[in-house]
Amino acid sequence: METKYWHLTNHQEADEDKIIEAVQLLKQGEVVAFPTETVYGLGADATNAIAVEKIFKAKGRPQDNPLIAHVATKEQLSQLVTEIPKYVERLIEAFSPGPITYVLPSNGICAKNVTAGLSTVAVRIPEHPVANRLLQISGLPIAAPSANTSGKPSPTTALHVKEDLTGKIAGIIDGGATGVGMESTVVDCTQDYPVILRPGGITKEQLEQVVDKVLIDPAIRNGTSKELPKSPGMKYKHYSPEVPLLLVEGDVQAIQDQINEDKMQTKKVGVLASSRTAEQLQADEIIALGNNMAEIATNLYAALRKFKQDEVDIIICEVFPDEGIGAAVMNRLRKAADSMITKNE
Ligand code: AMP
Ligand code: MG
Repeated sequence: METKYWHLTNHQEADEDKIIEAVQLLKQGEVVAFPTETVYGLGADATNAIAVEKIFKAKGRPQDNPLIAHVATKEQLSQLVTEIPKYVERLIEAFSPGPITYVLPSNGICAKNVTAGLSTVAVRIPEHPVANRLLQISGLPIAAPSANTSGKPSPTTALHVKEDLTGKIAGIIDGGATGVGMESTVVDCTQDYPVILRPGGITKEQLEQVVDKVLIDPAIRNGTSKELPKSPGMKYKHYSPEVPLLLVEGDVQAIQDQINEDKMQTKKVGVLASSRTAEQLQADEIIALGNNMAEIATNLYAALRKFKQDEVDIIICEVFPDEGIGAAVMNRLRKAADSMITKNE
């Protein structure tokens, strides 16, 4: 299949024409990738099961992993669910549009394969102007997982989408690099209190400023426990780079010791670390992820994609504090990693 590529230029009229073309394809039941503030999404009409099936096929996504339906407004969100609890009204007021997804009882408007047969549907109002315009013009709920091959790091640029999906989808809207760089926070809103099913762009600490109590699905912390995650997607290995990834918990010296150990086995070692740690380390290739956790979140996926099989044999990555946006970063790193070791204890 030929994949159309629309490069947006920030000239409003020209861009509007391109977005309209993309909407036409979506209305014809085709699949189109577009930028959001979290990562690039791979969109299809959420009410059209045949169109939604094309998303699963292009990504190679397991059928039991439900998709997030994206809408332009709160009114549209309310058209997909049977009820909106009071605390969700408050969360919407505070954080939407933005990187937060609400799991609510579905009224069946979204196709069955969007919800993977569950009685609930996950809905998000994105903040990115291109995503928002696409949703407004189409008037449709758009089902959209990340626009990557399942298992690989999520795409934060249109080039990443191209690498994975050229020839497999109808089009790609290039609106530049995404901002947050991590997926949305998925919150189960079917109980008396919100339960975080997946940490993401809106932190637990932010949620706690708006509601009395926020719970965390136990499966998040013990990724390897027998606990069955409520969010089906959380059980799969995800976000994986081409070469093995080892997480090292410890100070700069501990990380350097691990690099040296791997180098002794004649391995070429790539490193991912905060800018401060990175400048104190020596390895074959080092990517400095940024000066703070927000920057590290923004840059992580692109960095994971940069390490290629023929250049390094292993990636060693620093362990970051598990709080704020760091909770989302560590959740993704634990899923991407082959192993984790703790030094200095
Ligand atoms: P992605 O589309 O890759 O951003 O992943 C969407 C995430 O939302 C996955 O972890 C899904 O399991 C989760 N999700 C989507 N719909 C639901 C739902 N109805 N209930 C619980 N989790 C959901
Ligand atoms: Mg994904």
